[in-house]
Amino acid sequence: MGRYTSKKARKIEIIVFGIITLILLIYGYINNKPTDILNPATEGTSAVNTGAYENGVIQASFIDIGQGDSSFIKLSSGENILIDGGDKGSGEVLRRYFADNSINKLDAAIVSHYHADHAEGIYELMNEFPIDVIYMPNVKTRPELHDDLVRRADKKGIEIKYISAGDKITFKDGTVFDVLFPDESIFSNTKDDGEANINNDSLVIKVSYGETDFLFTGDLESDAEKALVKSSNNLDCEVLKVGHHGSKTSSSKVFLNAVTPEYAVISAGRNNRYKHPHGQVLDRLESFGIKIYRTDLSGNITVVADSNGITEIKTEYSQQEEN
Ligand SMILES: [Zn+2]
Repeated sequence: MGRYTSKKARKIEIIVFGIITLILLIYGYINNKPTDILNPATEGTSAVNTGAYENGVIQASFIDIGQGDSSFIKLSSGENILIDGGDKGSGEVLRRYFADNSINKLDAAIVSHYHADHAEGIYELMNEFPIDVIYMPNVKTRPELHDDLVRRADKKGIEIKYISAGDKITFKDGTVFDVLFPDESIFSNTKDDGEANINNDSLVIKVSYGETDFLFTGDLESDAEKALVKSSNNLDCEVLKVGHHGSKTSSSKVFLNAVTPEYAVISAGRNNRYKHPHGQVLDRLESFGIKIYRTDLSGNITVVADSNGITEIKTEYSQQEEN
């Protein structure tokens, strides 16, 4: 090999090395981008527990706000996410809960659907508590409650983002919130009279950290559950937040067959007038060998998981038999 050729080869080598370094730098930057980027383009699951949070835990708390839904997730990165906020009056319950647990802001709040027993608490909280961004379902029918939320968010300078199936929210520690529903192309929720069943507009979100998956389904009912089972092969989870407070309209067999949780958490008020949860649903969950936790019996319930799986389930009160 002549002198000239080897010089040229060296030059090419340097250029190639430079390009590779640049690609690695850009790739590294994208993957370390800070918090709560809505990144629908991300395919597959991100690498979990890299870097500073590798010994961390995720804590999912199902807060006893009476009849309604409110789940609070604390990530190993320290980020705080609220899924639903319960009905009127729950804003104050949540504020007390946050104060007791030294939580001084929400990085994100998610409204599963535009019903009072999920959204009013967030509406109240917006006035009193710092929230960075609120995610809401991107659906055709947006009732007055939606407009109220948007108006207050505007006033408070809180960002609103609409999400639907296919979107993913990736947090700093690699935890992914994967939005699986709603999607007009898999389920049309518009009835003949043009009205929609707002329960079936519920966001379905799978939260994945290490080996543990949590599934949140709002108040999704069985016909939408069936559509979801057909459209997604990604429903398997360890912890299911039971749909619609354990009402018999939800938690169909076909759905439970696809989800196969180990634990089910039901959020319902003590002696509520709807008689949630329904006996049929409790029997069905038990027939699947699923362990049931209920906020009406146990108060606040917290599931703790490290990257290898669930390590602890804490309840405010010891679980009592229904009387
Ligand atoms: Zn509800």
